[in-house]
Amino acid sequence: MDSFDFNFKDIVENALDIIIVTKADMINEPGPEIVYVNDAFVKLSGYSREEAIGKSPRILQSHETDAKTKTTIRTALQKQEPVRVTIKNYSKSGESYWLDLSIMPLKNDEGVVTHFMAIERDVTEHKILEQKLEILSNTDELTGLYNLRSFNTISNNEYSRFKREDHTYSVLLIDIDFFKSINDTYGHAIGDLAIQHLTTLCKNNIRSHDVMARVGGEEFCIMLPDTNKNSAYMIADKLRNQLKSDPLIIDANTIISTISIGVAESDINDKTHKDIINRADKALYEAKSKGRDCVC
Ligand code: GH3
Ligand code: MG
Ligand code: MG
Repeated sequence: MDSFDFNFKDIVENALDIIIVTKADMINEPGPEIVYVNDAFVKLSGYSREEAIGKSPRILQSHETDAKTKTTIRTALQKQEPVRVTIKNYSKSGESYWLDLSIMPLKNDEGVVTHFMAIERDVTEHKILEQKLEILSNTDELTGLYNLRSFNTISNNEYSRFKREDHTYSVLLIDIDFFKSINDTYGHAIGDLAIQHLTTLCKNNIRSHDVMARVGGEEFCIMLPDTNKNSAYMIADKLRNQLKSDPLIIDANTIISTISIGVAESDINDKTHKDIINRADKALYEAKSKGRDCVC
């Protein structure tokens, strides 16, 4: 190797990324022993060098750290292979942060792995942004409900479960009646409040594992796992009646609105989740034709 007239240790000490070196043994419990940490480690973790050395990097994990990620690391260490993961760690004061962590085995002159080196970059801001983007891309802004895209993803999974394990599920397709006249009479903003009011009312009357989405302007879909069409019909009728007994009231004005609902159940002959939605759509059309404020 070329010789340089500078000290490599200075580079490692002052790197913005965290660098940790551990011994290569005691991978199981209590975990490999730290022999070196740089300044960036002290700065982000809040542990001093003296506190960290002799302990295992596992002091930075908690029960909330993803178990699968921990196993991935442990398996790589056992095989003495390099590994790269994104992992949640905790500072001495308990604050969490996300790391892009890569670990490499270090060999001595005889080619024996004696140590592991970890290089870690703080990716917390990136991770938070990613989580925000995920929420934004899966939810509807006005109601906070799932949007059509994420509803389809969740429903396709439920359809697969139905095919695999024969768990019947049902779908309610809800459309507000004469909604254009609510907008025309009270204005678009009140129309929006009516949409939010119906959302809250439905959410309060379904189970936490039922999945509700806003799939159109004033159209909603509710997927009810482990529910046959008779039970689904009863839930739908309860929602329809609930809205009548608990309408939106603004400045002492009662905004009268009713809903029509189409109900459909998963069927063994269905080819995709879309087939169930199509039946619910037909049923909704029937409910509208029957004069609205009706479940079919
Ligand atoms: P129907 O009983 O046949 O359902 O009659 P409708 O007037 O409700 O007709 P339709 O379902 O076709 O009308 C949807 C209307 O909803 C059209 C549009 O102006 C209104 N709309 C769509 N999205 C929004 C929204 O985000 N906010 C508000 N305020 N109105 C919306
Ligand atoms: Mg509509
Ligand atoms: Mg409508």
